[in-house]
Amino acid sequence: MKTTFIDNVAALHERYRAASPRSRECFEQGRAVMCGTAKGAYLYEPYPLTMQRGEGCFLYDVDGQQFVDFANHHTAQVLGHRHPAVDEAVRAQLERGIVLGAPLGIEMELSQEMCRRVASLDRIRFCNSGTEATLHAVRLARGFSGRPKIAKFEGGYHGSHDVVEVSVAPPLDKAGPETEPNSVPTAGGISPNAAEEVVVLPYDDEASVERLVTRHRHELACVIFDPKAGFLPQRKEFVQSLREITRKNDVLLILDEIVSFRVGVGGFQECYGITPDLTTFGKFIGGGFPVGAFGGRADVMDLFDNTRGSTGFFQSGTFSAHPITMAAGLATLKQLTPDAFAYLNDLGDRLRTGLNELFDRNSIAARAIGIGSLFSIHFTDEDVVNYRSLARTDKTMIHPLFLGLLEQGQFLSHGLSMNALSLPMQTGHVDGLIDAVGHVLTEFRP
Ligand code: PMP
Repeated sequence: MKTTFIDNVAALHERYRAASPRSRECFEQGRAVMCGTAKGAYLYEPYPLTMQRGEGCFLYDVDGQQFVDFANHHTAQVLGHRHPAVDEAVRAQLERGIVLGAPLGIEMELSQEMCRRVASLDRIRFCNSGTEATLHAVRLARGFSGRPKIAKFEGGYHGSHDVVEVSVAPPLDKAGPETEPNSVPTAGGISPNAAEEVVVLPYDDEASVERLVTRHRHELACVIFDPKAGFLPQRKEFVQSLREITRKNDVLLILDEIVSFRVGVGGFQECYGITPDLTTFGKFIGGGFPVGAFGGRADVMDLFDNTRGSTGFFQSGTFSAHPITMAAGLATLKQLTPDAFAYLNDLGDRLRTGLNELFDRNSIAARAIGIGSLFSIHFTDEDVVNYRSLARTDKTMIHPLFLGLLEQGQFLSHGLSMNALSLPMQTGHVDGLIDAVGHVLTEFRP
């Protein structure tokens, strides 16, 4: 009898369970006290693997399985795991005491390094997550402009505070017209006012962006732009016209580089030739420790400068600019030379080209897209250009491919998006992933 798609998925689950009894035990014990898993992003069927350790570009789970790590902690581990320079910087900082209730100087060094790298940064401030970074950047934009609303892109993600949790993944039947999307709250419990404070813009459509920004200019504090690097391709002309439209309408542009800062020394903004008013950062700039940062134009950022008397603006946090984070982040940035980025970006090109050739050769309606060391696999035969085309991609093969790749020793994000290469990887690792994808997809061919 012919095996069906469902049979194959059931067989994958069975083999997965057989290979990971300890992970299953951890999951069962953990869910009794944690409401699910340690965080939502870790959850997938039948249960997530519990990892024991990471070394270079490898992960090892509690059942002793080894994986090449293509997820790299939501892209944050750009140097892979246990990089000696980061370990050493953390150890040295630990020996001085963890947190001392005063500046230690290391935060100034990381600030200098960031301002040196990113042309639009006159000033920067640190916090503990990307969510905090976008929260403070948006608040600053409101305070600076005196206007109440923000504009964000449909499908853009900026963390989990209310105003940016609007139209992150709206169901298509609620999303409204493609050229003038509805403002749809994403999660339960969000303030009912949040959706009213947000103008939702479509990606890749400069005419609609211009119309909407111009219409709302007198009430817009900012446009916050997530380029969805590695997930959604961006046309250079679109990105540059977004900068022009915001400038012309006197609306601040906040570029969210929390993921996209991975593409080069000066980030996405350098690659695309734009100068945002404010930029938010996170992920790898903390060397694997919790971090967020935001910075930009001196005249805007200096609202946080209370050294000459109160400005009425304030941003703090018990662990903001944490010394261990600052030390690990600085050590990480020092490894990320122009040559390191060139190496990573070449590896990324090799992977995307290899995967797309594989899909073409086998007439599989899929594409590997991305930029620099970031990549995603989408099952579709149309170009993905905006949230609507992303929402239309076929999701049925994602889970089987993810589990099949685990069997082949390849760990990707379980949505197969937001994947990232790390500096210890070599061409053999990338070619190994291409072969493994070919192997798994062959098993599932009708
Ligand atoms: N912005 C973008 C573009 C992100 O990808 C993320 C997290 N994945 C955030 C903001 C939020 O960052 P954090 O999870 O550190 O709060």
